[in-house]
Amino acid sequence: MAGPAEPLVRARWFDGRSSQAQRVLVGFAPASPGQRGPDLLMHPLSGAAAAGPIRVPFKAIAWPEAWSARRVQRTLLVDLGAHGSLEVDDGAQWHAALAAAGARVSLVQRMQTRWTVLAAVVVVAAVALGLFYRYGTPWAATQLTRQVPMGWETDLAGRALQELDARYLQPSTLPADRQAALRQRFEALAQQVPAGLQRYPGYAPRWSLQFRAGMGANAFALPGGTVVLTDGLVQRAAAKGLGDDALLGVLAHEMGHVIHRHTTRMVVEQGVLNIGLGLALGDASAIVSTGSSLLTGLAYRRNHEGEADCFALALMRQGGLPTAPMADLLVAISGADAGGGAGPAGAPPRKPADAGGAWTTLLSSHPDTVERAERLRQTHSGSC
Ligand SMILES: [Zn+2]
Repeated sequence: MAGPAEPLVRARWFDGRSSQAQRVLVGFAPASPGQRGPDLLMHPLSGAAAAGPIRVPFKAIAWPEAWSARRVQRTLLVDLGAHGSLEVDDGAQWHAALAAAGARVSLVQRMQTRWTVLAAVVVVAAVALGLFYRYGTPWAATQLTRQVPMGWETDLAGRALQELDARYLQPSTLPADRQAALRQRFEALAQQVPAGLQRYPGYAPRWSLQFRAGMGANAFALPGGTVVLTDGLVQRAAAKGLGDDALLGVLAHEMGHVIHRHTTRMVVEQGVLNIGLGLALGDASAIVSTGSSLLTGLAYRRNHEGEADCFALALMRQGGLPTAPMADLLVAISGADAGGGAGPAGAPPRKPADAGGAWTTLLSSHPDTVERAERLRQTHSGSC
C-alpha cells in the first residue's frame, strides 16, 4: 500500500464511463517478487476519496516509453485498459516515481531502444516458427487425426477412386480365381494386424483389395482401408518368378499407410500448417505456406514410406512370411533393376502418379527404392 514516503504524481483520471476527469495522485506499489513491475495506485482527491486508493495491476497498464530522459514528453497519456486512462502533466516526475518503485525497463521499451534486442526477438520468433513447423505441425496433426471420423476417410477414398477410375484406371483383366486367391491372402493378413502395430488405438479400417489395370506396375492405399493393386504389378511379379509373398509384402506396405492414416495426416498437416503460418505471418502466409507445404509434403512422405515399410516388416514377420521377395519386386518396378527389360506392349509409365492430377498427393509414391529394398531384405529391422 502507499506509504507516506512514496513519491506521488498529480494526474487526471478518465474512468472510461464519465467524460469528466477526476483529479488523482498516482503512486506505485513496489514490484513484488515474480512480478515484472509495480501496480499502480490512484488516490482520488475528491468524491471517491473515502473508498481508498484504486489499484491497477501492472499487466493492465500500457506503460509509456521511457527510452530517453532527455526526450521524455511533458504530458503523458497512460492507457489503463478497463480502468480507463490517465493524463499525467509531468512525465519526468512519473518516470522518477516509477524508478523509485523499482520498475525495470520492459522488453518492449528495450526493443524500441536497442536494435540488437529487436534483432534477437526476430531470431527467437524465427526459431519458434521453425520449431512449430518441424515439431508443432506433426504433433497437432496427430492429435487432430485422432478426431477424424472413419466416414470422412471412406468418403474421400470413394471419391478418389471414382476420379481415378474415370481418368486413369481400367477394369482388371486378372482371372476371377486369381483375384479371389490374392484377396483371400490379403484379408487373412489384415486379420493378423496386432494391437502393437496400431498407431491410432481403436482405428479399424474397412479392408478392401481392389484390382485395376491401366497404371503400370503399381499399388496404392486409399484412406480407410482400400488398397488398389494393378494387373501390371501382378504380371511383373510373375515375370520375375516371384511368388505371391512378394505381392503380399507390397500389400502389407500399403496397409501400413492405411494404419498410419498417412493421407489423412497429410491433409490435416496441410491445414494446421496453413492456419499456423497464417497466425504467425498474416498476409505473407500465402506465399510461405505454399512453398513450405511442398517441402513438408516431400519430407513427410519419405518418413511415411519408412513407417509403412516397418509396418510391413513387422506384419510379414508376424505371419511367418519372407520380405526378400517384396524387396526384389520393388527393385524390379523401380527400374533400378537393369535386367527388367521393356514391358509388354509399350512400357508402362514409370511414375504413373505423375498423371494423377489433384489426387497425386493422395497416392503413395515410393522414392529411394534401392535403399528401402536393402532394408527389407535384412531379416532384422534395426531402423524400425
Ligand atoms: Zn508407400
